[in-house]
Amino acid sequence: MMSAADDTRVAIALHGGAGTIERGTMSEELEATYRAFLDDAITRGFEKLRKGEPGLDVVVSIIQLMEDSPLFNAGRGAVYTWEGTHELDASIMHGENLDAGAVAGISTVKSPIALARAVMEGSSHVMLAGAGAEAFALEQGFEVMPPEYFATDRRREALDAYKANEQAGLTPEADHKFGTVGVVVLDAAGNLVAGTSTGGMTGKRWGRIGDSPVIGAGTYADNRSCSVSATGHGEYFIRHTVARDICARMQFGGATLEAAANTVVMDELVTAGGEGGIVAVDPTGEVTLIFNTAGMYRASINASGEKTIGIYSDES
Ligand code: ASP
Repeated sequence: MMSAADDTRVAIALHGGAGTIERGTMSEELEATYRAFLDDAITRGFEKLRKGEPGLDVVVSIIQLMEDSPLFNAGRGAVYTWEGTHELDASIMHGENLDAGAVAGISTVKSPIALARAVMEGSSHVMLAGAGAEAFALEQGFEVMPPEYFATDRRREALDAYKANEQAGLTPEADHKFGTVGVVVLDAAGNLVAGTSTGGMTGKRWGRIGDSPVIGAGTYADNRSCSVSATGHGEYFIRHTVARDICARMQFGGATLEAAANTVVMDELVTAGGEGGIVAVDPTGEVTLIFNTAGMYRASINASGEKTIGIYSDES
């Protein structure tokens, strides 16, 4: 017999970044590590939702798994700035009353997504940046880490390659790989929540901030339409207000989630030259994972319990 919990409609989707991720370019072992990580993270998230854990808690805890892993460009393993430092961005949004929190350009806090949540719940603001955000984190008792904690050889090599490319007069973005993380959920209470965390783009300078902490660009959630987390070349996602545009097409234009996401990612962004993708979930528990790059680390479980895990564009 089905219990009440079995009838609960919950759903989750996550990404670990989109970009030039082509078959044969990583070892079988590394690919298997990514797939196992994605499988474990999505399964854990779904189980938490099924038990009735609030969407906010689930989004934060699954993003923290990814922030703590050097596999992704968020928290530990974040990409390097031009100066060889780390500047982290994150945001979170709750779809019930449009509460949102974001941090940008922080370099010591272990979990940027948790700090974004603290901005939402513990301040009267939506976005804090740089030194002010760090001061807020200290006041709130957040765990901070030395620069070595965020450092990885792989990302250091990516910075060296980026600089060499630029010095050779090549377009640095040409072989840019993304690795931002994001989670979207429909929780048992019927709320949509979205969160995104990133180190930004390799070689960024001058305090550059991408779409990930910008509500409406990299992250958006509204119970009347959908919740979205994006990854890709942030400048395009900001200009096209990607996350909000997908929700607005549903809310005001009557589009389905899939149609709205398709138009924005495969038409608008492709026409503009904006590489990347999104994961999204709607109030019925339908999920959409869509990207216009060679790959996107991704996983989902919809309200019917159907699971997908993928990396490349030729797998469903
Ligand atoms: N969207 C991020 C940014 O532009 C990068 C990424 O998704 O990997 O900062």
